[in-house]
Amino acid sequence: MRLATGGIMHETHTFSAEPTAIETFDVARGAELWRYAGTNHSVGGVVDACRARRIGLLPTFFATAVSTAAADRATFEAMAGELVAGIAAALPVDGIVLTLHGAMVAEGFPDAEAEVVRRVREVAGPDLPIAVTLDLHANIGQAMVEASTVVVGYDTYPHLDAAERAREAVDLLVATVEGRIRPTMALVKPPLLPVPQAMFTALPPFKTLFERAHALEAAEEALVITIAGGFPYADVPMAGMSVLAVTDADIQRAERIARELADLAWAHRAEMVIRNVPPGEAVAAAIRHPERPVVLVDVGDNIGGGTPGDGTVLLAELLAQGAQDATIFIADAEAVRAAVAAGVGGTVETAVGGKTDDLHGPPVPVRGRVRLLGDGRFVHEGPENAGVPADMGPTAVVRVEGVNLVLTSRKLMPGDLQQLKTVGIDPLRQQILVVKAAVRWRGGYGPITRHAIDVDTPGLGSVDLNRFRFEQLRRPIYPLDAESTW
Ligand SMILES: [Zn+2]
Repeated sequence: MRLATGGIMHETHTFSAEPTAIETFDVARGAELWRYAGTNHSVGGVVDACRARRIGLLPTFFATAVSTAAADRATFEAMAGELVAGIAAALPVDGIVLTLHGAMVAEGFPDAEAEVVRRVREVAGPDLPIAVTLDLHANIGQAMVEASTVVVGYDTYPHLDAAERAREAVDLLVATVEGRIRPTMALVKPPLLPVPQAMFTALPPFKTLFERAHALEAAEEALVITIAGGFPYADVPMAGMSVLAVTDADIQRAERIARELADLAWAHRAEMVIRNVPPGEAVAAAIRHPERPVVLVDVGDNIGGGTPGDGTVLLAELLAQGAQDATIFIADAEAVRAAVAAGVGGTVETAVGGKTDDLHGPPVPVRGRVRLLGDGRFVHEGPENAGVPADMGPTAVVRVEGVNLVLTSRKLMPGDLQQLKTVGIDPLRQQILVVKAAVRWRGGYGPITRHAIDVDTPGLGSVDLNRFRFEQLRRPIYPLDAESTW
């Protein structure tokens, strides 16, 4: 058996001011995809599953990027074109596995990844099985269902099961190729637009939803069930929650299961509304907390959700309240250059952060001693993305009063303790760790955290969706339309 593989992953924040160009992406071509082997990544799961089964795998093109704005048309066409040409060149194959995110928007394509699958389908023909893996934050639309044969979404947030779900997708694809199953999919979209913070899968309501889905899978009612919380910061018609049930040639049952889980999600909708703690109150509580470390979650600047990572509200508050042993990351290449110019041991005086837009706090003037300079590269220790390299670009640690200010040239979503260790920060010795995240941080930080406070910082990651002006979104949708019925 021979399979072709490739993909594109991007979670698009359509209100972001950060452009998305081909340079935004980390691209792997052909044999470069083998670098994901053995990692807790979707592509790693595909590679490992094929090796274990002695299936010939033809790698084509894979591109991934941290969340930014919608890709322009030329960027999308360049990437989709290369992927589709790679798949076409690999034909004939017995099946195709695509690693996608599911919440990518490109100029002209509100559901850009469904367009990718549609184009792959066009070259593959109507009968060739195509398996797709999606992120839990996918905004799944009917076009995705129509173009693919079987879809498998992550069941966890933080995304700890990326490789496992990819192996499952390969299993289902192989069973399809061998004629043992005939996947049939039904999609139901309850009118729900939860924020990422509400989707932590270790707590209700998402824990409740996945427990029911897993019970149905265990009872062999469905081959696989995807519950995607969706990505609310994409102003597209298919934004929001999705339930996608896959059965073996039984569309009525797939529809019934998808509907049941969508009803369950709707019944739990009030639990998806989040209220966070004001910054001043949160910092004061973190300072006086008797145990360390305390994690302050800068939800408004949730990098994984498409914010710039240069939000300054908590930095200003930490300095104003005289916090000691606090660590905060700010993505600011200009400030890194100032620190590099001062050199290790030197004093740097500059304004940091708040430069990408005017939504995440103004630049904060700081004066401090440069403690460390580095290249910002490390390998994720996991659990999420274990084994995958990361690159923050040139990085500096500047001690400003009691604060370890980590300046990075590129934004990187937090969630892996190696990000701290690589710049000489021992997380256990910090009183306060600021994470620019919603939930992903829990993967690496969770086990060592003694207390966490979700902070109501302003910005593109705000949990108050009324702060955004939606134009393309389907309405009514909860909680924007609080009184809506379904
Ligand atoms: Zn995600």
